Amino acid sequence: MARVALVTGGSRGIGEAISKALKAAGYSVAATYAGNDEAAAAFTKATGIKTYKWNVADYDSSAEGIKQVEADLGPIDVVVANAGITRDAPFHKMTPTQWKEVIDTNLTGVFNTVHPIWPGMRERKFGRVIVISSINGQKGQFAQVNYAATKAGDLGIVKSLAQEGARAGITANAICPGYIATEMVMAVAEKVRESIIAQIPTGRLGEPEEIARCVVFLASDDASFINGSTISANGGQFFV
Ligand code: NDP
Repeated sequence: MARVALVTGGSRGIGEAISKALKAAGYSVAATYAGNDEAAAAFTKATGIKTYKWNVADYDSSAEGIKQVEADLGPIDVVVANAGITRDAPFHKMTPTQWKEVIDTNLTGVFNTVHPIWPGMRERKFGRVIVISSINGQKGQFAQVNYAATKAGDLGIVKSLAQEGARAGITANAICPGYIATEMVMAVAEKVRESIIAQIPTGRLGEPEEIARCVVFLASDDASFINGSTISANGGQFFV
């Protein structure tokens, strides 16, 4: 039987590419989203992948949603915690709301996504946890104190889960994308985007599919001894 994969924020951007790549690799895929019903409907129409709407920042909604996915598709073998947001501002202008929204979605959202799935993975002695962090969690970024804190925190989650899950056949790994051509990046002013591209040795933004292929590898049996790792996929922009 096909393994089951859950991709949060799997209807748009990097998540959309991940959902499609996992489906192409033979997984039974569920993709979640927050509120953009139109994009989710178009995604399902184009791919045949079912979408589920819940806010990853809310534990009870996540647990309920995951229960529904497992009722529909079966136990989740692969979870990709991809949903994320930005609320950028220089630190002196950053509001407590901007701080909290990003922490709740990008950091607590990972807890809320993995925690309800974890006991089942432990029981079945198999699991793949893949968290989409960011280059800016590795190096920090101007006007992203909130975002960088969450993405660095995501790496801490993965390294700890790797130790806790290892004996139960579960691996936990992170991917740190550099700048990828999604709405999140295309929304910044063209001048800013040009200055970003100038810092990338490869001379271009990454494509969502280039991150999706990393996910498919980490989810596969070929990656069975990779645990607690971070794949940096950033066109040579930053080395750890
Ligand atoms: P997009 O903004 O293109 O898509 C975000 C997806 O996440 C959407 O499906 C959105 O749903 C969903 N989402 C957002 N907030 C929530 C929430 N509270 N609950 C549930 N779902 C939510 O993002 P990207 O594809 O650009 O980014 C995906 C991930 O990759 C993020 O974690 C981001 O931080 C990370 N990343 C992105 C980089 C880039 O260059 N783009 C670089 C490095 C990391 P809806 O459609 O309903 O809004």
